[in-house]
Amino acid sequence: MTDILKLIETKDPGEKEFHQAVKEVVESVKPVLDRNPEYRKMAVLERITEPERVILFRVPWVDDQGDVRVNRGFRIQMSSAIGPYKGGLRFHPSVNLSILKFLAFEQVFKNALTTLSMGGAKGGSDFDPKGKSDNEVMRFCQSFMAELFRHIGADTDVPAGDIGVGAREIGYLFGMYKKLRNEFTGVLTGKSLGWGGSLIRPEATGYGCVYFAAEMLNTRNTSLEGKTCLVSGSGNVAQYTVEKILQLGGKVVTLSDSSGYIYDAAGIDRDKLDYVKRLKNIRRARIMEYVDKYSEAVYTEADSTLGCNPLWDHRADCAFPCATQNEINRKDAENLVRQGISLVCEGANMPCTPEAVDVLLDNKVLYAPGKAANAGGVAVSGLEMAQNSMRLNWPREEVDNRLKIIMRSIHRTCLDAAAEFGTPGNYLAGANIAGFVKVVNAMLDQGLV
Ligand code: NDP
Repeated sequence: MTDILKLIETKDPGEKEFHQAVKEVVESVKPVLDRNPEYRKMAVLERITEPERVILFRVPWVDDQGDVRVNRGFRIQMSSAIGPYKGGLRFHPSVNLSILKFLAFEQVFKNALTTLSMGGAKGGSDFDPKGKSDNEVMRFCQSFMAELFRHIGADTDVPAGDIGVGAREIGYLFGMYKKLRNEFTGVLTGKSLGWGGSLIRPEATGYGCVYFAAEMLNTRNTSLEGKTCLVSGSGNVAQYTVEKILQLGGKVVTLSDSSGYIYDAAGIDRDKLDYVKRLKNIRRARIMEYVDKYSEAVYTEADSTLGCNPLWDHRADCAFPCATQNEINRKDAENLVRQGISLVCEGANMPCTPEAVDVLLDNKVLYAPGKAANAGGVAVSGLEMAQNSMRLNWPREEVDNRLKIIMRSIHRTCLDAAAEFGTPGNYLAGANIAGFVKVVNAMLDQGLV
């Protein structure tokens, strides 16, 4: 076990997020390897941690001043053992190979948990859409797709959105793909409704995350009704997490972006959420403006010198980190526990550091890893692919119902796998084990490829 970690640290020095994600999975699946010696013999860990393909490319584009800019584009095709590669595109200045490899690796297990046939991938660019005009974003997306189109396809690799990639970017990317290939296929998910998108896709990650939380609370004979919740982020996942919490009778008191967070003791109600959606999705403004409109709320600027994020230091029952990786560290987790938290459900990918997870588990907090709790987004992407293949559009209720069933099934799968391998109630171990076994068995069936 240590050998594989040493191996990737030597082969890929400096890829700390990737090492972190691999370490977590490798630790969880040790009992599976002990029970199945053929897995070690067939070097499944060495194979599953090596991407099937890494594509790295130049993305030149022209800004509104006529100056030439150059960004770096990536696509990590991690595993196609159980289906075509599938996973989002992230446009954010922090994007690098390590972050995308960790996300692609996580995606392999997440997609396996959804019950649908999808392999794992991730991609993106260090391009920052913030502050760019629509025309600049369009020109960038077109240049990005001018290379990516060679490597993707409805039965090969189907990208989607992630941080910085929403309906606008998917539209520009799809338009360019269609022009270059002269075909209208379901090559991207997260499309707009009028041209192949699925109802509930924008809502799916947030809604699914809250459905998962409700299932977890149900194991302790309780629900979200009347619970106070902390939510971070204010993008796609955060917005629909808040929406579903409100529908299920909970109260949300925080939201954030990379500049800072707002605390609204009275609760972010439906009207306030609609305001946030307009603020973030249409005006693309900062969350700090919330306190100009709702003066009872308090805004706190982000301060990386503090060593913790005060957002996680408010009295609450449940926490939904929905911004980015490693946003809850050990100190934040200790603060959450001290403030009475009983559930942490990850809307973002890997938002809790390993030390934070240890604190939560040691204190019997219900903890759901992102690869299980946020799988609703890719699950409905899978449903969008199915509808595209059939040239059909399912009604909202049907997609939402399928999403609920999938989240319930993921929840049950995690609990069953955790119990079978001696860690009852540990959703992290359960998610890693169940995803791993499904993918590895498919790899073994298909031989050394
Ligand atoms: P969006 O771009 O819509 O929103 C991201 C939010 O997180 C913004 O509020 C952003 O603030 C904030 N954020 C991003 N980076 C940082 C940072 N370094 N520090 C603090 N805040 C930050 O993305 P999504 O809502 O789609 O994604 C959020 C998380 O959910 C990501 O981890 C993503 O991988 C995960 N996820 C998303 C899925 C989806 O369907 N969209 C599916 C599964 C997981 P700012 O505007 O200032 O950058």
